[in-house]
Amino acid sequence: MKALSEMTGDEARALRFILMDIDDTLTREGKLLASSYTALWRLREAGFKVIPVTGRPAGWCDLIAREWPVDGVVGENGAFVFWEERNSRGKPVLKAEYHPQAVRNDHPALARIKERALAEVPGLRQAKDQFARLFDLALDFAEEDPVLPLETAERVKTIACEEGATAKVSSIHVNIWMGMYDKLSMAEKFLKSRFGWESSTGDRQVLFAGDSPNDEPMFARFPLACGVANVLRYGGLIRQLPAFIASRECGDGFAEIVRTILEKRR
Ligand SMILES: [Mg+2]
Repeated sequence: MKALSEMTGDEARALRFILMDIDDTLTREGKLLASSYTALWRLREAGFKVIPVTGRPAGWCDLIAREWPVDGVVGENGAFVFWEERNSRGKPVLKAEYHPQAVRNDHPALARIKERALAEVPGLRQAKDQFARLFDLALDFAEEDPVLPLETAERVKTIACEEGATAKVSSIHVNIWMGMYDKLSMAEKFLKSRFGWESSTGDRQVLFAGDSPNDEPMFARFPLACGVANVLRYGGLIRQLPAFIASRECGDGFAEIVRTILEKRR
């Protein structure tokens, strides 16, 4: 990973889309920071398309799409995207697209995985935002106490894979779903359909900022991906690290990334 200061002016000027994870990328200890929220507004005002890409639930993404200064939000690790469009009277209307492979979370395999994981991993619990989810099962190992070691999350992931599901580890939850999709496949689909983005030539128009293993498909795809400094906590679990790394952690790292982009474009 290179220091952010090594990003060139040409690289910063070619950017059109800023995508970012939410937990521990915009937030710190669960709270959205003033610095990172202000950075989202600054990006919007500078003309970028701003799109969070998160493992958080549909219920949260409805709020984010309506209330935050964003152009869309990919949720539940790529199961859907929500965005607003203006109707003929200029009123915002919420739109949604669901991934064709997305499977609702009442699938019996997810019930089996939950039962096994809770029985086999002491201290693990269902995430408290589960009621707001449509497609995935979220098991909490680090959002609330007790904070369990990362090996625990890897153990849960193994159980999910043995039962035929997909699982990704974020900084707080293990997200488990049926169906073949991830943050990247839905984000690319949305960039193409909503903004006419060309996947063959547009790599360098996209900057993604993230912090943890469920961001890896995005780090691998976009040559200008940036990690906030806390990505180093997962060094061993992320094979494809981002190209750049901020010197600061969490939301302050995201604000640093945005400051750097805006300065380098001048
Ligand atoms: Mg995260």
